[in-house]
Amino acid sequence: MQHDLVWQVPYNPISRHYRERFGQKVYKIPVSVATTCPNREGLRGMKTCNFCDAWGSSAYPDLQSSSLEEQIAESRRRILRKLNCARFLVYFQAYTTTFARVIELRSQIAVALAQPDVVGVVIGTRPDCISEALFDLLREYSQKTYVAVEYGVQSFDEEQLVWMRRGHTAARSIAAIKRTREQLPDLHMGIHLILGLPDETDDEIRLAAEIASALPIDDVKLHNLHVLVNTPLADDYAAGLFRPVSLEEYARRVTLFLQHVRPGLFVHRLSALSSRHEELVAPQWTAQKMASYQYILDFMRLHNAYQGQFHKREINETRVDVVSL
Ligand code: SF4
Repeated sequence: MQHDLVWQVPYNPISRHYRERFGQKVYKIPVSVATTCPNREGLRGMKTCNFCDAWGSSAYPDLQSSSLEEQIAESRRRILRKLNCARFLVYFQAYTTTFARVIELRSQIAVALAQPDVVGVVIGTRPDCISEALFDLLREYSQKTYVAVEYGVQSFDEEQLVWMRRGHTAARSIAAIKRTREQLPDLHMGIHLILGLPDETDDEIRLAAEIASALPIDDVKLHNLHVLVNTPLADDYAAGLFRPVSLEEYARRVTLFLQHVRPGLFVHRLSALSSRHEELVAPQWTAQKMASYQYILDFMRLHNAYQGQFHKREINETRVDVVSL
């Protein structure tokens, strides 16, 4: 695949997967039901991730006080104002959804699936917040409907994970992904990765692409590291200890990643979006979703780059073994 012939983009977009699976356009509705995570609770001496704001990555924190039904209804109304019809996946995004008791998640999934036009759920979580009880729940629902899990892996570099204060290792992420796939062969599984980390090398990016390629996952979501107010990263930024990369440099790193990742891996998005502009400290280019997205596409086209261009399957499998030792 050099360019996706239908979508006309040089990568394999997740919208293609949704179209194949559901036969029409599908939107993810982010909801906030969790209120905390292991880091915020200080488990095992963990601290809040250095980039995370008070809202725990929630897209719409103003809706956090609303019921799950109201959150879904409000997002559905907003989308349907622009479209005649659509189908929705309810995305349990904020904080760590699986940190609460499984029985609570069970009832939240049931509520989500009972709303109009909802065709499945997506559970965002960390690689160290899984259990047999969770797998039982996901197995039960994935036999009836579409269920996806997104793991916040963020990096396969142990030093970067320590710097971000993630509180889990790359080996832990790899083990969680393998265990999930063994237990739930039909589950749709994805990972989040951050690019634009300090002192990030090209080899680190190639390694991340090769590991992602060899793992039994279906999709990847890419974020640039941006600085939000009232975060440890904002303090580092103010002290001159962290500088976000330029849009041009970020586009180069995304391109490098995509060139080395397997062509069949679906890609959710190419950069993060700061939806609350007043909370964004830097870089300012991350406030303009479509402009930065278009810039990355143009960068890839200018360099005749496309997903999987330099993908080599046999290297990937060796790399995973090295990291997960
Ligand atoms: S990024 Fe996730 S795990 Fe880290 S502090 Fe925020 S909510 Fe917790």
